[in-house]
Amino acid sequence: MSGCIFCKIANKVIPTDIVYEDQHLVVFKDLKPAAPIHLLLIPKKHYSSLLDLGEEDFELAGRLNVAALRVARNLGFAENGFRLVCNCGWDGGQVVNHLHYHLLAGRELQWPPG
Ligand code: AMP
Ligand code: ZN
Repeated sequence: MSGCIFCKIANKVIPTDIVYEDQHLVVFKDLKPAAPIHLLLIPKKHYSSLLDLGEEDFELAGRLNVAALRVARNLGFAENGFRLVCNCGWDGGQVVNHLHYHLLAGRELQWPPG
């Protein structure tokens, strides 16, 4: 989708610190990390938010979760723990309108979020 910053990242129009990539998704470092490890997982295909996923997207949704685990294990923070979150819509705090999951780790995270 033209004008979408995460589509530009997925298409390598904007160079980014990519830590994992496959046919379906990209994982890269958040520009303003909220934890020692703060990664974003995005599907290469544009979805505005989680609300855009339908029955036909079961596989993609699973892939995003499995990719998060793979990255957590590969980067060595799986055992200590991490948080995988998706901000959806205004009340959810979503700012970038391309579906993404935050993968946060590297410190003891607080709950509940603000
Ligand atoms: P959200 O509030 O869930 O929409 O989060 C959007 C996230 O994208 C924020 O944590 C931003 O720091 C991050 N972000 C925005 N632009 C970029 C970029 N060009 N490269 C990496 N992270 C970005
Ligand atoms: Zn997009």
